[in-house]
Amino acid sequence: MNTQQTATRLTSEKITAEDVRYADLAWRGANKRFVGKPDYIRLVGSTEQVIDAVQEAVDDHLRVVARSGGHCLEGFVADPAVKVVIDTSLMTNVYYDAAMNAIAVEAGVTVGEMYRKLFLGWGVTVPAGISPDIGVGGHIVGGAFGYLNRQLGLAADYLYAVEVVFVDASGSAQSVIATREASDPNRELWWGHTGGGGGNFGIVTRYWFRSTEAKGSDPTELLPKAPDSALRFKATWDWEAIGEAGFKRLLRHYGEWCEANSGADSPNAKLYSTIFFPRKSPGKIELTGVITAGDDSERLLKAHLAAINEGVGATYTLESDQTTWLKFALYPFPDLVDKGSVGGIFKLKDAFLRKRLTDKQIDVVYHYLSSSDYMVGGGFGMTTYGGKTNTIAPDVTASAQRESIITLSCSTGWAKPEDEVPSLKWVREFYRDLFGETGGAPVPNEYSNGALINHPDVDLADPVWNTSGVPWSTIYYKGNYPRLQAVKARWDPLNIFHHALSIEAE
Ligand SMILES: Cc1cc2nc3c(=O)[nH]c(=O)nc-3n(C[C@H](O)[C@H](O)[C@H](O)COP(=O)(O)OP(=O)(O)OC[C@H]3O[C@@H](n4cnc5c(N)ncnc54)[C@H](O)[C@@H]3O)c2cc1C
Repeated sequence: MNTQQTATRLTSEKITAEDVRYADLAWRGANKRFVGKPDYIRLVGSTEQVIDAVQEAVDDHLRVVARSGGHCLEGFVADPAVKVVIDTSLMTNVYYDAAMNAIAVEAGVTVGEMYRKLFLGWGVTVPAGISPDIGVGGHIVGGAFGYLNRQLGLAADYLYAVEVVFVDASGSAQSVIATREASDPNRELWWGHTGGGGGNFGIVTRYWFRSTEAKGSDPTELLPKAPDSALRFKATWDWEAIGEAGFKRLLRHYGEWCEANSGADSPNAKLYSTIFFPRKSPGKIELTGVITAGDDSERLLKAHLAAINEGVGATYTLESDQTTWLKFALYPFPDLVDKGSVGGIFKLKDAFLRKRLTDKQIDVVYHYLSSSDYMVGGGFGMTTYGGKTNTIAPDVTASAQRESIITLSCSTGWAKPEDEVPSLKWVREFYRDLFGETGGAPVPNEYSNGALINHPDVDLADPVWNTSGVPWSTIYYKGNYPRLQAVKARWDPLNIFHHALSIEAE
């Protein structure tokens, strides 16, 4: 069954502190804020090797976690309590699997490599994340949104099947394949992997993708065609020139544009953008994005910019270029790629919105970004959402936040250890005040719509920062949580796979 896997090239050794590879592997995370000290790391190449590695850790009573792309925002992998890291990053095959009539992607494939192989192999794509270095292992299971989700939905919407190494109630590690077929007795495990989040049920070794509406067995027809072009753009405004009124207008107009243009049938479903406002002193306000509407792209860009900049009273500088989908997907924006691969020390707090920010919230954003009371670096970003993503009912997959039009983030980063405390204080207070009407958290209601488990934030489980009375599990999973708890109870009864925000069996 696993002839396609990389086992023959790899012996699955234990890599301990004496090994030249240890330091590199122990520090693979994108968020250098967290440092782990595992007893060993195992680089695995096949499902059988993952089973053996998990079994050994369980038998030795050692806390074990999976790592694929190392892009976790929290310390779920780089945690001093973790003793064994099973690293799938050398499991990198992507192939058409005739028996499943689906395209298989091993857990260690990065998002960029998946885009490349899907495109070069069959001219197709899956709408996954924006940073090419993310690993699919921990990414797809969290739903996975990106440049194309307004046009095509989430990556998890295309998940046909998943192979998982799990540990049963007797402590025995084994693998199982779960599909979305109604007749599959393991279907709930597939469902859990469409938004439940990494590190909950077991270790994913392979995903298989196929559109729900695909017919026949021609692999070029099993997934959406890749866009035939990509118009990339970046518009920048000068913080000093824009002033308070212009700043607030820009924020309001961006939200209004999202309210008016996030239907699945809108031509703007092919437009993705992010507007990022750094704290005033360091930089410029930036709107970056991509439009995959072919000849109509230039018109959509002009209209997007005109709507956002209306009455702002400042001009922007625009750079744009026409490129191919593949070139864009592999190197979308230099800053993003560089940050993603090199990593940094940061804290990010995200939220979904169903409506634009209220004027009161806009005042909060302005205060935290412009006040000289805070000597920290950081910023606030909003990204377009919705479109096709919102056409799927909240319980079809485990990704429940289907009525959102914006995903936002408050973030900070620092280089010197002494900046950690003030930076964290700033970002936590900023987010708390942004959602001040609802106890410091984006509780699902008419305006906000929870948060994304792919962007985990442990503060939402901390009663100091989340005083809403709504548990973190509702914020991430809404009404899907009890069903996810049942999946957890069935497939990880000993709670072998856990972290600070993992699903708790009832
Ligand atoms: C720069 C950057 C950009 C991002 N952009 C996006 C985006 O556009 N869209 C989006 O949806 N998210 C985005 N994310 C979040 C990202 O999707 C999640 O952090 C995801 O969990 C990363 O998966 P990973 O395998 O790279 O990370 P890892 O750090 O390896 O793992 C993250 C979590 O998943 C678990 N995990 C890892 N591998 C497996 C496996 N094989 N089986 C089961 N569990 C596993 C880990 O134990 C851990 O709990 C971004 C993150 C960063 C740092």
